[in-house]
Amino acid sequence: MSANEPGQPASPAAGFTTDLATPRVALAIGAHPDDVEFGCGGTLAKWAAAGCVVHHLVLTDGSKGTWDAHADTAALAQRRQAEQREAAARLAGERAGSVIFLGDVDGELDSDLATRSRVARVIRELQPDVVLGHDPWKRYRLHPDHRHAGLLACDAVVAARDPHFFPEHSLAHHRPEHLLLWEADAPNHVEDVSATVAAKLHALEAHVSQFESTMHAVDEGQLAAFRERIAGRLAELGAPHRMAAAEVFARISDL
Ligand SMILES: [Zn+2]
Repeated sequence: MSANEPGQPASPAAGFTTDLATPRVALAIGAHPDDVEFGCGGTLAKWAAAGCVVHHLVLTDGSKGTWDAHADTAALAQRRQAEQREAAARLAGERAGSVIFLGDVDGELDSDLATRSRVARVIRELQPDVVLGHDPWKRYRLHPDHRHAGLLACDAVVAARDPHFFPEHSLAHHRPEHLLLWEADAPNHVEDVSATVAAKLHALEAHVSQFESTMHAVDEGQLAAFRERIAGRLAELGAPHRMAAAEVFARISDL
């Protein structure tokens, strides 16, 4: 009897691949400072501990990441760059690679050809084996930057791999082995992050400017509750795969 026969409980782990071989170089592409840590921080920390160089590409300046209507948004963007560098260092330690800021205005990111070229150039320069990004096909995803960031990661991988895209880069084309999309609409890949939950939380907590608006953690009690929410979610994602904690992705290979 098939596990997927109607009326039978499907095995939640069916159809999933598990734990890529540690890449030599990984590039995570997020719309805003902190998106990468939420999306794949445990996986990046695990790979870095095993020798992978971890690069970050943040597409917008994060200048709208506050509930304070009178905030100095230029100062906020500066502060968030520093927070992102700290988060990258906390995740990857001595394997932390570049932290690149494309600097587009928060909330106004576009997945147009010019922006795709800028992202493809970074992929060609850094030559990652694995690229990670937002899933642009996540249903009912509201934030336009997350949709555009996901499309940019996908479209830039296609452009970077083929020699006739953007020849003005004057860089060798580069074909990553895998693309992993977080917050996946239809996940098909799981990474065991049981050993790196603490590293992910430590990196998330580098984004101090986001404690109020994103993490709802303005005091120690709320910060503890935030940690519990994140750790609980990772445990929930791992349970069907008999892992203490996991991050799941839509994996696209054969790029
Ligand atoms: Zn974001």
